[in-house]
Amino acid sequence: MAKTHTKHRGTLNGEVVVNSRQTATQKAAAQREPVRSTFDFTSSSISEIFNSNVFTRQVMRAAVPKTVYEAFIKAIDDSTALDPTLADVIANAMKDWALARGATHYTHWFQPMTGFTAEKHDSFLNSTGDDGGILEFSGKVLMQGEPDASSFPSGGIRSTFEARGYTGWDPTSPAFIMESTNGKTLCIPTVFCSFSGHALDKKTPLLRSIEAINKQAVRLLKLVGSEAKRVTTTVGPEQEYFLIDESYYLQRPDIINSGRALFGAKPPKGQEMEDHYWGSIKERVLSFMMDTEQELYKLGVPVKTRHNEVAPAQFEVAPIFENSNLATDHNMLLMEVFKKTAQRHGLRCLFHEKPFSGVNGSGKHNNWSLADSNGNNLLDPGKTPHENLVFLVFLSASIRAVNKFGGLLRATIASAGNDHRLGANEAPPAIMSVYLGDRLTQVVESIISGKPLEKSGLAQTIQLGVSAFPELPRDDSDRNRTSPFAFTGNKFEFRAVGSSQSIGWPNTVLNTMAADSIEYMADRIEAALKKDKDLNAAVQTVCKEVLTENRRILFNGDNYSSDWHVEAEKRGLPNLRNTIDALPELVTPEIKALFNKYSVLTEEELVSRYNVQLEAYCKTVNIEALLTASIATTMILPAAMQYQSRIASTIIQTKEAVSGLDLTPQENLLRDVAERVSKLRTNVERLDALSHEVDEGETDGLSHAKFYQQKVIPAMTAVRTVADELETLVDDSLWPLPKFREMLYIY
Ligand code: ADP
Ligand code: MG
Repeated sequence: MAKTHTKHRGTLNGEVVVNSRQTATQKAAAQREPVRSTFDFTSSSISEIFNSNVFTRQVMRAAVPKTVYEAFIKAIDDSTALDPTLADVIANAMKDWALARGATHYTHWFQPMTGFTAEKHDSFLNSTGDDGGILEFSGKVLMQGEPDASSFPSGGIRSTFEARGYTGWDPTSPAFIMESTNGKTLCIPTVFCSFSGHALDKKTPLLRSIEAINKQAVRLLKLVGSEAKRVTTTVGPEQEYFLIDESYYLQRPDIINSGRALFGAKPPKGQEMEDHYWGSIKERVLSFMMDTEQELYKLGVPVKTRHNEVAPAQFEVAPIFENSNLATDHNMLLMEVFKKTAQRHGLRCLFHEKPFSGVNGSGKHNNWSLADSNGNNLLDPGKTPHENLVFLVFLSASIRAVNKFGGLLRATIASAGNDHRLGANEAPPAIMSVYLGDRLTQVVESIISGKPLEKSGLAQTIQLGVSAFPELPRDDSDRNRTSPFAFTGNKFEFRAVGSSQSIGWPNTVLNTMAADSIEYMADRIEAALKKDKDLNAAVQTVCKEVLTENRRILFNGDNYSSDWHVEAEKRGLPNLRNTIDALPELVTPEIKALFNKYSVLTEEELVSRYNVQLEAYCKTVNIEALLTASIATTMILPAAMQYQSRIASTIIQTKEAVSGLDLTPQENLLRDVAERVSKLRTNVERLDALSHEVDEGETDGLSHAKFYQQKVIPAMTAVRTVADELETLVDDSLWPLPKFREMLYIY
C-alpha cells in the first residue's frame, strides 16, 4: 500500500536513504483507513449486546432453582459466606452458560498489587479414564483457586518459602466471558490473599472498606430517621488516554518500555490553539472508540461519554457510575479492552500520566458518592428539608475526612508517573483541598455563623430539617478544574488520580476515611440527642461544629496560583509535592490505627502497600534511567555525531575549494553541535555512574527511592535536555526517533 514518497528521502554520502522514522510516517499514512467493527449498530441496538457476555443475576435466576438464587442474594446482602452445596449448583449453571457461548477455559481474574489484572487459564476438560473427556466445573473450583503467589509483589508480607496464594470468588461482581480470536474464556472476579490470610491484592481491602462505610452510614442514617438497609459507595471514573499510530510506537523504545517519551523537543504546535478539546473526532479514532464501546457493552461496562481532550492525540471516555467494586473491575477491563482494540486499529493506547512533556498529561477523575438501598444519593442536596438534613450530615463528614486525612489521600495517588502531573499547571496540585462552589459555600458559612444566607431571597438562617435550601446550581465544571476534590452538584470528584492506576486503592482510602468521619458524626449526634431530644437541633449543632473545625480545607479559588500555596501553608495544609514526600503518610501511627479500626488493613498489610508503592517508584525510575542512557548512546549520539562529521567535512572541503569565504556561521553551527555531543556523552556517563551506585548501596526502601528522586531523575533530565536541543539542530533525515510533531498529529 505504501507508495514511494520521494520527498522524504535524504542523501547520505551520495546514497538515497529513507530512515526508519520516515518509513514510520509512511506507514502511519498508509494505515489511516478506519477499521470496521463486527457489530453494526445501524441494524441492531445496544441493548442486544449489552451484558451479553456477563453471567448477570437475571441469567442466574433463570438457570438455577429459585431457592438457590434467593440464598445467593441473601448471602450477598448480609455479607455472609455462601453454602458450598449452593456454589455447586451455581458453578454448574455458570459452566453451561459459558460452554453454550463457546468458552473452553475458565480463570480466576484478580488484581494483584502490580496494579494490573492477573489470570491463569484452565480448561473445563477433566481427566477421563477410558470414557473420553468430560467437562467439569465445581463449586469448589468456582470459590477457590490456588495460584503460585511467589512472583506477585507482596511488599514483604509473604516470605519466599510460603509461595502459595489463594484466590476467592467475589460473588458481588459478576463472571464474564472474554473473547479472543481463537476462543473464549470464562473470567471469575476474585480476591487474592496469602496462605496466612493477608490481602495481596487491591480488591480485598476495597471490599472491606465498602463494608466499613456501609456499617457506619447505615447507623448514621438511622439516627436521622432513615430505614435504609445498606449504603454503598458509587464511583464513575472518567478515563483520559492518548492514541498514537503503531508505526511510531514501534520506533520509540522509550514508549514501548516505559509508557512515556523520555526524549522529545516540545513541538512547534502544542495545545496552545485550543483546537483539540471537544473538537470533531477523526474518523479513524471514532471507529476505534465505537469498537471499544461494542466490546465493553458485551462485558456490561456502561460506557457513556467520549470526546477529544485538551492535548493533541488525547481523549477521554466516561462510564455511567456503579458501585465502587464493580466500577473498579470495569475500569480495569476498560483499560485492557482499550489496549487490545487499539492494536486492531493500528494504534497504541497510552495510559501513562505524562507520555509527552509540553502538553497535558492524563488523569482519572474519580467521581464518588454514597447511595442507600432505597436508591437515594446521600450527597444530593435534594429539595425537601429532610433530604437537606441527610445531605448536610454526609457533606460535613466528607469535608472532615479530607481535612483529617488529606495526606493519606495524597499518598494513595503517589507514583513516578503522577509526579509529572500533580503540581504542574494542568492537573490538580499536590495540596489537597475541597471545592464547594459559591452557593454551597454560602450555605456552609451561614450554618457556621448562624447568620442569614446572603442573597438567598430567604432572609432567614438555615435551619436544618426545617427549612429547605435555596436551589443549588449544578456546578459549572469549568470554574473549578483546578481543585483536587470538587463537589459537583451531587458527588465529589477526586481529580488527582493518575490515568494508569487502579482506582481500587484510592477508593479504599476514600471509603475508610469517610467511614471514620461518618462514625464521628454519628457519635456526636447521639451524644447531642442525649442532652436534647430534638434531632434537628442536634444535627445542626454537630454540623456547625464539624464545619467550623474543618473549614481550613475549603477553597474555591485557583489551585494553580502561588497565592494558594502561601495561603495553604498558613492554614497548615500539607503540600506533599512528590511521591517521596507523600508515601510516608501511609504508615503514620494515626493511619495504621485508622485502617486497623475499620478492619480494612492490618498494620502488616498497610506497610506492605507502602513498600510496594516505594518499590514501584524505584523500579519505574530505574527502567527509565537505563532506557535514557541506552537510547542516548545508541540512537541519539550516533545521529548527532554523523551530522557533526558531515558539517566538519563540508567546512574543510569548502575551505579547500574556495579561499577567502567567511565560514564563521558554519563553524558556529559545528560548535553548537559538537559541544552538545560532548555534553550528552558526559551526562550519560554521569547517569551510568549513578545507576551503578544504586546497585551497590544496600539501603532501606525510602532512602533508595530518595536516591532515585534526588540523584537519578536530575541526571536523566540533564541527558534529555541536551538531547532535545540536538533534536532541533540535527539534520531531520538523520534523526531516529519519531518527533512529537509527528506522533501527536499523524494518526
Ligand atoms: P460532570 O463531570 O460534567 O459533572 P457527569 O455529571 O456526566 O459530568 O459525571 C461524570 C462522571 O460522574 C460520570 O462517570 C458519571 O456517571 C459520574 N457520576 C454521576 N453521578 C454520580 C454519583 N452519584 N456517584 C458517582 N459517580 C457519579
Ligand atoms: Mg467531570
